[in-house]
Amino acid sequence: MSIAENIAQIRERIAAAAREAGRDPSEIILVGASKMNDAAACREAIAAGIDVLGENRVQEMTQKLSEHAYDGAPLHFIGHLQRNKVKQVVGHVDLIQSVGSMELLDEIEKVAAARDLVQDILLEVNVGEEAAKSGFAPDAVFAAAEAARSRAHIRVRGLMTIPPADADRDANMRYFDKVRALYVDINTKLFHNELKYLSMGMSGDYEDAIRAGATMVRVGTAIFGARQYHI
Ligand SMILES: *Cc1c(COP(=O)(O)O)cnc(C)c1O
Repeated sequence: MSIAENIAQIRERIAAAAREAGRDPSEIILVGASKMNDAAACREAIAAGIDVLGENRVQEMTQKLSEHAYDGAPLHFIGHLQRNKVKQVVGHVDLIQSVGSMELLDEIEKVAAARDLVQDILLEVNVGEEAAKSGFAPDAVFAAAEAARSRAHIRVRGLMTIPPADADRDANMRYFDKVRALYVDINTKLFHNELKYLSMGMSGDYEDAIRAGATMVRVGTAIFGARQYHI
C-alpha cells in the first residue's frame, strides 16, 4: 500500500470512530509521525493531504527542513526535547507538542522572548507516571498550565499524552479518559474553553483515542510502514 492509500484508509477509520462517538470527523487532525522517513516520504504524505507532519529528533528535523521536506504542511515537534536544543525548535515549528517540565517551559519562554515571537505548545502528561518517560504527572498539569499561561511568549493550545506501552486496551482507554478529564478541567477553569488540541492516539490506538475525545492523532507506522531502526 502506498502512503496515499494508507492515509485514505486511516481517514476512513478516523471518520467512522468520530461518527460512532457522535463527533464531527472534520475536527480530527491527522499528524503524520515522519521520524526515520526521508524528505520524499514527507512530500508524498503532504501531497496525499496529511494535515500536519510531526518530528521527534531535532537533528533529523533540521536536516529535513533544509531539504524543504515539510513545504505545504504545518510542522510539529512531538519528541523528547532537551533544553540545549530548544533554540533549534522554537520558531521553526508551528507547535511543540511535548513540553513536559517547568525547565523546558522556562527555556522556551526565554528563546521565544529573545526572538520576539509567541510559541504554541501542548503540555505533555505522563499519564502512567512512568519513571523513564517525560511529561508532567497528572496532578501537576493544572499548575503547569497556570504557569505556562502567565508566560508572555508561550501560548498553550492543549494537552498531549502517550500512555504506557504495555497497557491493555481497557487500561489504555482509562488513561485516555483521564487525560481527557484533565483537558476539560483545565480548558474550562483556565482557558475559557479556547483550547483546541487534545493529542493522543498512535497507529495502534487512534480510534480508541478518538472515542475518548482526542482531536489530534499522531500516526507513524500505519502511514509510512515499519521504521528501519538499524539505519
Ligand atoms: C513515533 C511516534 C508516534 C507514532 O507512532 P506509531 O506507533 O508509529 O504510529 C506518535 N507519537 C510520538 C510522540 C512518536 O514518537
